[in-house]
Amino acid sequence: MLKNKISLFKLLGFTVSIDASWSIILFLIVWSLAKGFFPGNFPDLSEQTYWLMAIVGALGLFASIIIHEFSHALIARKYGLKIQNITLFIFGGVAEMKEEPGSPKIEFFMAIAGPIASLLLSILFGTLHRFAITIGLPVPVTGVLEYLGTINMLLAAFNMIPAFPTDGGRVLRSILWWAKNDIRRATRMASRVSLIFSVSIIFIGFINIVADNFIGGLWWILIGSFLFSAANISYHSLVLKQSFEGKMIHHFMNPAPITVPSDITLQEFVDHYLYRYPHKMFPVTKDNKISGIITIKDIKAIPSEEWQHFSVGKIMQPKNQDNSITANTSINDALAKMNKTGLSRLLVTEHGRAIGIITLKDLLEFIALKMELEE
Ligand SMILES: [Zn+2]
Repeated sequence: MLKNKISLFKLLGFTVSIDASWSIILFLIVWSLAKGFFPGNFPDLSEQTYWLMAIVGALGLFASIIIHEFSHALIARKYGLKIQNITLFIFGGVAEMKEEPGSPKIEFFMAIAGPIASLLLSILFGTLHRFAITIGLPVPVTGVLEYLGTINMLLAAFNMIPAFPTDGGRVLRSILWWAKNDIRRATRMASRVSLIFSVSIIFIGFINIVADNFIGGLWWILIGSFLFSAANISYHSLVLKQSFEGKMIHHFMNPAPITVPSDITLQEFVDHYLYRYPHKMFPVTKDNKISGIITIKDIKAIPSEEWQHFSVGKIMQPKNQDNSITANTSINDALAKMNKTGLSRLLVTEHGRAIGIITLKDLLEFIALKMELEE
C-alpha cells in the first residue's frame, strides 16, 4: 500500500511523504471542484476563477489532512511511541507507527486526535466564512472557505466511521479493550463491527445505483470495499503480530541443521543428503564456516546428467542479509524479512555460525495451534 511514496518535507521531526496515488487524487479533486462543485454552488464566475478556486481549495484540503495526521503523530510522540513518517494516500493519510499503542488510553487519545483536529478546522473555516461574508469579501474567497469548512466536517465524519483501521475503528477498539481488558478480543469485536459497516456501505451504494444515482453509488461501493479489505488485512496482521510479541527466533527454529560441505558434487549431495533428510534447504560449509545455502530449487535448475560436473559450492546461494537472520531477532522481524524477500526459509546464525533454520511453515503451524487453543 505504501510502496510508491515520495518524500515532501520535514516538519517537527516527522517526514511527510505522499503516495504516488495522490497525484491522481489531487488532479481529480481540482478537476471536480473546478468543473462541478464551485460552478454548481457559485454560478456566474469565470472559468479561470473556478480553476483558481479549485487549486486553492485542493491545497487547503491537503494542508487540512496534514494537520489531521500531525495531531495523531504528536499525541503518539507525547506517549513515547515512535513515528517517523506521515504518508498521504487515497482517502487521507497514515502516520506510520513502529509499534502498537501499549494501552487503551493511549490508543483512544491517539485515534481521536485526528477527527478532533478536523472538527476544529471545520469550525475555524466556518467562522472565517461567516466573517468574510460580514465584511463583504468577494464570492471566490467565501466560496473556498465554505468548501474547506464542509470538507473538514466530512473528513471528521468519515474517519469516525467505526471500521477498523479508521480512527473511529481504533476508538471503538480502545473502548472495548478497556472494557474487556483483552486486546485480541477487542480487535476481533471491532473488526466484526467494521465488516458489518463496510458491507452496509457497499449495500447503500447498490441502492443508490438502483435509484439512478450512479456516480454517488459508485463512490459508496468504492469506499465500502476499501474499508472491507483494510479491516480484514489489519485484523490478520494484528493477530499475527500479537501471537509473536516478544518471541525470538531461537524459540521456533529447527536446531542443529544438517550441513553440506561445499566441495562435494551435486550428485553426491542428492544421494547422501537430499534423499536421506526431509529438508528442502541445507546450509553449506567451507573450512568449517557457513558460506551459503543450497535448496531443491537450485538443484532443479541444473539438468540431472550434469550433476556429476558441478560442486555444491558452485551453485549454492552465498549467505547474505536476505537469506539469513541472527538468532536474537524477533519473529516479527523474521516474518517481515520473509515477506520482503519471498523466501519461506531463513538460515539462523550466531557469531557467524549456522545454528538452525526457521521456516514459514513452522510459524504458521504455531499460529494455527495458538488460535485453536484460544478461540
Ligand atoms: Zn486519522
